[in-house]
Amino acid sequence: MSEEKQENGKVENLIIAGGGPAGYTAALYAARAELEPLVIEGFQWGGQLQNTTDVENYPGYPEGVMGPEMMNEFRAQAERFGTRFITDDATEVELNDGGIQTVTVGKDTYRAKAVILSMGAEPKRLGVPGEMELGGRGVSTCGVCDGAFFKGQDVAVIGGGDSAMEDSIFVSKFAKKLTSIHRRDEYRASKIMQERARNRENIEFLTPYVPVEFVAGDDGKITNIRLEHAETGEEKDLEVGGVFIAIGHKPRSELVKGQVDLDENGYVVVTEPSTKTNLAGVFAVGDLVDHTYRQAVTAAGSGTKGALDAEWYLRDMPPDPEEHWGTNTGAIVQAVEAK
Ligand code: NAP
Repeated sequence: MSEEKQENGKVENLIIAGGGPAGYTAALYAARAELEPLVIEGFQWGGQLQNTTDVENYPGYPEGVMGPEMMNEFRAQAERFGTRFITDDATEVELNDGGIQTVTVGKDTYRAKAVILSMGAEPKRLGVPGEMELGGRGVSTCGVCDGAFFKGQDVAVIGGGDSAMEDSIFVSKFAKKLTSIHRRDEYRASKIMQERARNRENIEFLTPYVPVEFVAGDDGKITNIRLEHAETGEEKDLEVGGVFIAIGHKPRSELVKGQVDLDENGYVVVTEPSTKTNLAGVFAVGDLVDHTYRQAVTAAGSGTKGALDAEWYLRDMPPDPEEHWGTNTGAIVQAVEAK
């Protein structure tokens, strides 16, 4: 049976597509501005923080907080002021320059005068056995978030770009020994970042190797990485208490590709310092636009900007003629009939 689309008659003020720190903060601000935002938060709402354990770098939580718990609190705060949520994935987005924006979830279509895109980004994965299974059990995709949990341990960082160097430099402050593993002998990271990493005594460089498996011990935590030499195929094992995969991120912009301006890596382009895209009424925030900072707190800040930009956009919009005349027409007809 083919699924027919069902259009929701109401035109919302604002739809927020994506429920991570950026989306929920945008919703909080928009709700407090009485825009009654509708958040299409995704089936796995909460974004990347849903897969994180302790968060110790978000201000206001001196004892730290679990990622999912923090997202629950962000969501509850937005809900308190009237935000509504659809806990499912957007399947289609139709963007218009200054017109009505449409977001479809399965067979339901929602329309709005403005939309904030906050679908986030996801870390790229190696696609090797053990990688997903050991997430939170020694395998991490965020050195800045999780580095401090590996105090005094031997760890590894995979990747040869600036993110890998940054993670290596940060994590090596806690680790006993850190092995930087890259699939080529040449790193693509900037010279200065490489220099900083090479100057740290506890960082060793192992190239050209690719991880082929992450192996767990009896306690379910990672114990070693099985590596393969990229040229000879020779295999070797490296014992580690943790591994950080830093091979880049990919923005979740598939739904808006070809509709709004994206950069060569797929990030939505905004007119900094605002969150405006090349389409009037379409704003983008959080990791969907940010390939540099990618922190929960910077995403939340960006969500705030998105809500304010949307609020100002909606305030300056001319009134909808249908809405304007809709209520009065009846009154005029009644007045004429009464004569
Ligand atoms: P990136 O520059 O794309 O580097 C990704 C690295 O991962 C590359 O070395 C790549 O190897 C490796 N890689 C990719 N797929 C792999 C796979 N399947 N198996 C093994 N290795 C794999 O990404 P990034 O480091 O996240 O940086 C993204 C952008 O942000 C860059 O423009 C960067 O300069 C910027 N950035 C800047 C800073 C800073 O200045 N502080 C910090 C972080 C990021 P190959 O080299 O062989 O392709």
